[in-house]
Amino acid sequence: MLELPTSRDACLALDAADPLAAHRDAFALPPGVIYLDGNSLGPLPARTEAVLRDVITRQWGTDLIKSWNTAGWIDLPRRVGDRIGALVGAAPGQVIVADSTSVNLFKVLSAAVSMRPGRTVIVSEPENFPTDLYMAQGLIRQLGDTHSLRLVGPDALAGALGPDVAAVMLTHVNYRSGAMYDMAAVTAQVHAAGALMIWDLAHSAGAVPVALDAAGADLAVGCGYKYLNGGPGAPAFLYVAERHQASFAQPLSGWLGHAAPFAFETEYRPAEGVSRFLCGTPPILSMSALEVGVETVAAAGMAALREKSMALTTLFAARAALRCPSTTPASPADAARRGSQFCLRHPQAYAVMQALIERGVIGDFRTPDILRFGFAPLYVRFVDVWDAVETLADILDTGAWERPEFHARKAVT
Ligand SMILES: *Cc1c(COP(=O)(O)O)cnc(C)c1O
Repeated sequence: MLELPTSRDACLALDAADPLAAHRDAFALPPGVIYLDGNSLGPLPARTEAVLRDVITRQWGTDLIKSWNTAGWIDLPRRVGDRIGALVGAAPGQVIVADSTSVNLFKVLSAAVSMRPGRTVIVSEPENFPTDLYMAQGLIRQLGDTHSLRLVGPDALAGALGPDVAAVMLTHVNYRSGAMYDMAAVTAQVHAAGALMIWDLAHSAGAVPVALDAAGADLAVGCGYKYLNGGPGAPAFLYVAERHQASFAQPLSGWLGHAAPFAFETEYRPAEGVSRFLCGTPPILSMSALEVGVETVAAAGMAALREKSMALTTLFAARAALRCPSTTPASPADAARRGSQFCLRHPQAYAVMQALIERGVIGDFRTPDILRFGFAPLYVRFVDVWDAVETLADILDTGAWERPEFHARKAVT
């Protein structure tokens, strides 16, 4: 770990020596903005516009429907899936890009439950991202309430793993606190209880090294528009370990998950392998943008990204403790136990974040009192961390957040 800089100049020196510095040029960041929200919406990669223009004008505009074959559109879900697989420790043929994270959660939960007949409990945690819990609740209703959801915090997980548990669904890096589970240890614990393990990698893919195969994970889902920089509403991905692919039933049995979509048979027959988790026609424009986003991360390598990310969050935590005494940390103190974000609590967090955004430091607010800051090491610099904390300190010291316009809640926080 790097020695922490103690001045703005020392931050500039670290940036000048940063082996990842050039990767910032892979993004079209607006001037004057410190972007600490790549965990919610990754910024626009510099190449995306040209790639999409080609997909639109040449592949779609000129080549029309031929592009399903000539431009390889039909292979995109697997091709981009394998690229994401390389970032999350999955050998080829186990990751596919499709639908949204929420829809993919439904698919993998349904498949997991059907693989553990006689077991009727899905375990998760109350602090999980709500859509994960909502999708489990929806599945349970669909199953006629034969199953139930058991919510326990990380410390109570061991005690919740009875012989009735079919599957455990956890988010690897918590969306609010940034706390990170030990994927291999938890997966082993869940397997020892005879249950299947589902990981949500929304805040992990492209942010921290993940080793799905090595950890023995059964299923996983993840998000394309956060650290993978795929653009607003980018398609999501899902992982099915090869050993499970033949026995998994896909509840959304659409034609592109069929063994022979263009045979137009009357009866559904699932495709071999991870392709059976496709449902309908893939969104080619969005998926093409996601491919560019994934390439921005792959070009840097997860190990180097992780090292810088831990240094960035450590610097932020130390500076905030010094300069913003009215805040309290809401993320683990040990960099190894958190993802690529750091959160602070403040009773007026919403207004404070609005004041920060007005000054060009973009993070986000998570109810009830969390200031959330994501540090994507591809483009966030040490000097950005320094300046962000100084701006926050000024807002807190001067009470700039008290202006009435900072208190009006917007639809998206
Ligand atoms: C962002 C996020 C999602 C997003 O789900 P969508 O279907 O893409 O809206 C799901 N789960 C977690 C843990 C997330 O952080």
